[in-house]
Amino acid sequence: MRALVIKGARDVGVIETDAPGAPADDEVQVRIGAVALNHIDVWGWRGMAFAKRVLPIVAGAEAAGEIAACGKDVTGLSKGQIVSLYGAKTCGTCAGCVEGRDNFCEDVQGIYGFHIDGFARELINIPARLVVGAPRGVDVIAAACAPVTFGCVEHMLFDNAKLKGGEIILVHAGGSGIGSAAIQMAKSIGATVITTVGSDEKMEAAVKLGADHVINYKEDRFEGVIRKLTKKKGIDVVFEHVGVDTWAGSMFVLKRGGRLVTCGSTTGIMA
Ligand SMILES: [Zn+2]
Repeated sequence: MRALVIKGARDVGVIETDAPGAPADDEVQVRIGAVALNHIDVWGWRGMAFAKRVLPIVAGAEAAGEIAACGKDVTGLSKGQIVSLYGAKTCGTCAGCVEGRDNFCEDVQGIYGFHIDGFARELINIPARLVVGAPRGVDVIAAACAPVTFGCVEHMLFDNAKLKGGEIILVHAGGSGIGSAAIQMAKSIGATVITTVGSDEKMEAAVKLGADHVINYKEDRFEGVIRKLTKKKGIDVVFEHVGVDTWAGSMFVLKRGGRLVTCGSTTGIMA
């Protein structure tokens, strides 16, 4: 089978490698149909975290595919079903995993495609508990955005920030993958969405996704626009992921008791 492999810093290539054998009793074998691209892939390609992994590794942290075979102890999943793949190889037995909070796993082996061999290959055997069946009507490309992009946003907006309908949220970088997911998910529960983008083209796209107010941060300071839009009250929830370029402003626009959630800092962490 073919696999996309990170060989070194800024060095990737397609290789021929052995296909996996039959899945273990608690595993499914998935024929990968689509792999999504995230910032973590860029970081991995650039060479971040090289000290924590042994190269080469197969790329791909977010993917979906079709079940090709099920191990004999697998229930609730069947051959031919489209599934999304969870992006980290967690233990399944620690307190975090047992609670369904795999992100707090105490014995995680790593993130697929970043620390350990990932999903950019034709076939993979993976523990059945790390796959989720796609609802009817969701194709393999849509399912491939679920685990990292939409999963991360769902966790930030609803588990952590406790965003509610009627509240005002600021979504930074509405043209990005998680930004566009956040706009849609916040609108779906009836929040008012203010978003920032860096071009007129992205302004149009953000409106199409449902944003109520779009600020081109290259032309206007978002802090000032928000002060006017909210009549100095401020924002209930800020959805960060930009970092040093926006952090101070994000804190500034929060109302008293407002919440800020973040999942990274694409512009770095130091001013
Ligand atoms: Zn665990």
